[in-house]
Amino acid sequence: MRQMSIEEAIGRAPGMSPGRYRDVKILEEKCPRCGSKIVCVYDDLGTVEYYDNYAHVCLNPDCDFILHEETFSCDMGGGRGYEVSEACLFCGRQIQMTG
Ligand SMILES: [Zn+2]
Ligand SMILES: [Zn+2]
Repeated sequence: MRQMSIEEAIGRAPGMSPGRYRDVKILEEKCPRCGSKIVCVYDDLGTVEYYDNYAHVCLNPDCDFILHEETFSCDMGGGRGYEVSEACLFCGRQIQMTG
């Protein structure tokens, strides 16, 4: 079975930019529809307003399974900083900030 590259899978997630995401991991958990691998990706495009973008995307090109959630928060209280660790909304894994 053909498998998409991580970059291709990320391109399916709304608002997610291949090559610009902040963290990605292929999960142990398999797709509930087709049993293929799932990639968990997190992006943060926050500038003044914080923007978190979480997605799980199936790597099977013939399967359209995707979980996607974007959250916006406008926090003027000094910012949260990148030392605060984020956790994926879907699988709960800790996001590793690499950027
Ligand atoms: Zn699938
Ligand atoms: Zn996840």
